[in-house]
Amino acid sequence: MKQIHLLLPVALLLVAVCGALTACTSKDGEPEMFISKYPQDCSWVGQEAPKNVADLDERLAAYAVIDIDSDLSHLTPTELQVLEILVAAADVMHELFWEQACPCHSELTRLVAALPADRKSLVERYFDINVGPWDRRLHWEPFLGSWPHPEGANYYPLDMTTAERDRIAGGEGRLADLFTMVRRDEGGQLIALPYSVYFAEPLGRAAALLREAATLTENASLRRFLESRATAFLTDDYFESDMLWMDLDSPVEVTIGPYETYEDGLFGFKAAFEAFVTVADPAESARLDKFKKELPWLESSLPIPDAYKNPNRGTESPIRVVDEVYSAGDTRAGIQTIAFNLPNDERVREVKGSKKVMLRNVMNAKFQQILVPIARELVAAEQVMDLSAESFFLHTLFHEISHGLGPGRIQIAGRQTEVRLELKDTYSTIEEAKADAMGEWAIFKLQSKGYFSERIFAEQAATYLAGLFRSVRFGIAEDHGQANAIQFNYLWEKGAITFDEGSGRFAIDVVVFPEAIEALVREICTLQAEGNYKAATAMIARYAVMPPVLDAALDRLGRIPVDIKPQFKPVGTS
Ligand code: ZN
Repeated sequence: MKQIHLLLPVALLLVAVCGALTACTSKDGEPEMFISKYPQDCSWVGQEAPKNVADLDERLAAYAVIDIDSDLSHLTPTELQVLEILVAAADVMHELFWEQACPCHSELTRLVAALPADRKSLVERYFDINVGPWDRRLHWEPFLGSWPHPEGANYYPLDMTTAERDRIAGGEGRLADLFTMVRRDEGGQLIALPYSVYFAEPLGRAAALLREAATLTENASLRRFLESRATAFLTDDYFESDMLWMDLDSPVEVTIGPYETYEDGLFGFKAAFEAFVTVADPAESARLDKFKKELPWLESSLPIPDAYKNPNRGTESPIRVVDEVYSAGDTRAGIQTIAFNLPNDERVREVKGSKKVMLRNVMNAKFQQILVPIARELVAAEQVMDLSAESFFLHTLFHEISHGLGPGRIQIAGRQTEVRLELKDTYSTIEEAKADAMGEWAIFKLQSKGYFSERIFAEQAATYLAGLFRSVRFGIAEDHGQANAIQFNYLWEKGAITFDEGSGRFAIDVVVFPEAIEALVREICTLQAEGNYKAATAMIARYAVMPPVLDAALDRLGRIPVDIKPQFKPVGTS
């Protein structure tokens, strides 16, 4: 073991406690805690019971605790066994993520455990949701103690100098690598430790679990992925297994490994471990295939001149609809994911595109816990009746599908370019507004082809309206909030959204709505096709604003949960 000479004496003791020979077994069913051979200085944690913020119970209430169920009845006993093993592997990802996200988590956990009984349970639950003492929803403000959140989480030494930061930013050695942790060697110099080295013991456990699942499964694509990913855990080379993940056609679909880099708030260099253990819904997949066949027709039907249409788009990105059985690591912290798009490796994307995975049961849970209560507060009583989980799912699904429709690569005065490059900082806001509006437009188009009943207009209208409030609720400082404000104000101007002073509720005019949506799609696609930055800026300036009537309405949503805290049912093979 080449890295031995870097070990500090104290660290050696810790290795003995939790080394490769004495696997870290959990006691009392408590989650396992990774203990690093390369510890940070944790003297800042101290020994005293830390204070917590006074409104902790309110902050906890913002996350509605909800059981996440999935239908496993179509799985064979072997597939259930595979699921159980994958859940165990996912738990290892959670252990790794704690180490990446929260410096000195063992010391902090000890302090939390020693808190007086009246505070302990509250703090423990919020500590668990946030994976550490910092509030992920409130800009990393500490809710326990007063330690400032380290921007680089636990990926880097906590005491870096400006010169050292510059060296990392400059990409020296492997310091900026996606799959390394940065620590100090015994001489105090920065070193990059590959995940396979830093996390050798737990990644070895995870690899063994994936191999065990691979030997059991009867699905060849899943077996190949699991074997390849097990190897990647030990070599840090994820390319081949990312490619194989794109080809999964198993009822058990798993996403496991280091993926997103948001947790590294310092540079965005380091990938965080996470896992989604899911089961595909065969009926839903079949329905999706039917929608996909209509993509060329939808593209050709867009309400823009033919020259602006893009006949080659729409097939680049496969979509899977699944139910989440278990989640862990990065994705389990804070706000819950309802859809994701992976892998991030551009080499894979060039060859195979990327895959969108929609987590249907998580979406349903958010619908029940958040969207319905918002609608009950703000949407006209007769339209609340039209809300359905199915229409929220369709809205989200066709939002994702619409990102692949309309202008992408464009030509301006003979010059080949892309919408993204021409719209620059306005691109995300405009593209998100497009995906929402075009999603509705596409559903209405497909209705005319017999895919949905007449009721779809009323159902989509109600869901769409409640969805607008859900998204602008977080403010119009970021892209999604702005995109939704654009839609609200545009539809308001067209008379598609109305407000009743007496009841204080909003409604959608179901007759005007489809026309207004089509007009918005036309306007956005035209400015995109023309790469018209000026028009994009003007649209944002005019529509991405918070009118007083909306601002006052949002104030009434204070006690409605902001997100969910999922509770997963054990898989149980018996
Ligand atoms: Zn989007």
